[in-house]
Amino acid sequence: MSPFHSALKQLTKAAALMNLDDAIFEKLKKPDTILQVSLPVKMDNGTTKVFEGYRVQYNNARGPYKGGLRYHPKTNLNEIKALAFWMVIKCSVVGIPMGGAKGGITVDPKKLSSRELEELTRVFTKKIAAFIGPDKDIPAPDVYTNPRIMSWIVDEYSNIVGHNAPAVVTGKPIELGGSAGRIEATGLGGFYIIQELVHKIKMSKKNITVAVQGFGNVGYYIAELLYKAGYKIVALSDSQGGIYNKNGLDMNPVNIMKTKENEGKISGCYCIGTVCDCENFKQITNEQLLQLDVDFLVPAALEEALNGKNAGKVKAKIIVEMANGGVTPEAEKKLLQKNKLIMPDVLSNAGGVTVSYFEWVQNLQNYYWTLEDVNTKLKKIMLDSFNQVWNIKEKYRTDMRTASFISALARIQEAMRLR
Ligand code: NAD
Repeated sequence: MSPFHSALKQLTKAAALMNLDDAIFEKLKKPDTILQVSLPVKMDNGTTKVFEGYRVQYNNARGPYKGGLRYHPKTNLNEIKALAFWMVIKCSVVGIPMGGAKGGITVDPKKLSSRELEELTRVFTKKIAAFIGPDKDIPAPDVYTNPRIMSWIVDEYSNIVGHNAPAVVTGKPIELGGSAGRIEATGLGGFYIIQELVHKIKMSKKNITVAVQGFGNVGYYIAELLYKAGYKIVALSDSQGGIYNKNGLDMNPVNIMKTKENEGKISGCYCIGTVCDCENFKQITNEQLLQLDVDFLVPAALEEALNGKNAGKVKAKIIVEMANGGVTPEAEKKLLQKNKLIMPDVLSNAGGVTVSYFEWVQNLQNYYWTLEDVNTKLKKIMLDSFNQVWNIKEKYRTDMRTASFISALARIQEAMRLR
């Protein structure tokens, strides 16, 4: 099942349970706009390569389109459509006044030099410039994109419109109008969800074990926050494999990141080291990590990590889906049958877009908040959203994903009706 097919399945399940208006259901099955662009780049060796880029604007009933940009060799239109749809739901779950979009380029960015990556980003910005903008559609970082790439977009877009326009993207460096706390926001939002859940289900706080798949922006920060709060991180992984220590000994994400960066080579704008450079741990595969007997399993890499094939082997009690689309509907069905609790992506990882929204607000006001302001507001939104979704779950006797969708769709439906 493709990611977009999965997204529609989730929509259909929630729509049926809440009696979503038929016309709105039909409208939500398709994105508003799909933009597909060719991106010619002069490579360092003198040849020209043409890459493919996308921007899908899904729905803006509740506010301007909002969503990240992904640079990945497997990125394709189906995936971007699903990710754009999930952004619509996510912004609404946490009640921020934005719609949903997503974009990306099919490219292995680690194989490009810094100059090639910059040119690719600037060509992409030129091609989508008429469609994005602070009041229209505001991109942000996602897999293999980062604040450096956002800086090039701000610069290129500002040159095109003839004035400084920092609010065209979020996830910028602080010096260019980025928000305090944005870099760790997605991980911190997920951390708040876990803390609230532990409190809600009265879980003993001692020796809670966690395995995290993916050690990028999201995986690293959530692992670091959990480690600092006393959770036992027993396994971590990235695209090259994983590391494991049953007792969580020395599994300090800060040290592991240092080793990864010290050992790893730099390719263009990327460190291509791996957690597997930490040789004092047992080496495991990503599949083995997903099957560990832990309290919390946190997929924080790519979609479909847990799927129909491997879900039956999952031993973790609770899955906190930090990767968008990390659990397929087939996997979810199997996991729910085994009474696993799944904290869905549209709730768990919504901290990122929440602080992106704060960044946009700060840019528009040209008035900047302290880290304390940002995190206090983020915490309130995450906890309120968690509790609203939890209550809907109880009311409809359903799972947390369907409850999140019901919460989101009710707001989207109201906005679409009013318009
Ligand atoms: P990132 O590029 O910073 O990191 C991605 C990580 O995943 C890297 O450690 C990479 O090695 C690992 N990875 C890639 N392929 C893998 C594979 N096949 N198996 C295991 N690990 C693999 O990306 P990120 O920003 O951390 O995004 C991770 C997930 O979180 C994505 O699904 C993204 O859409 C989602 N997300 C990100 C944000 C954000 O603010 N960055 C917000 C919400 C959701």
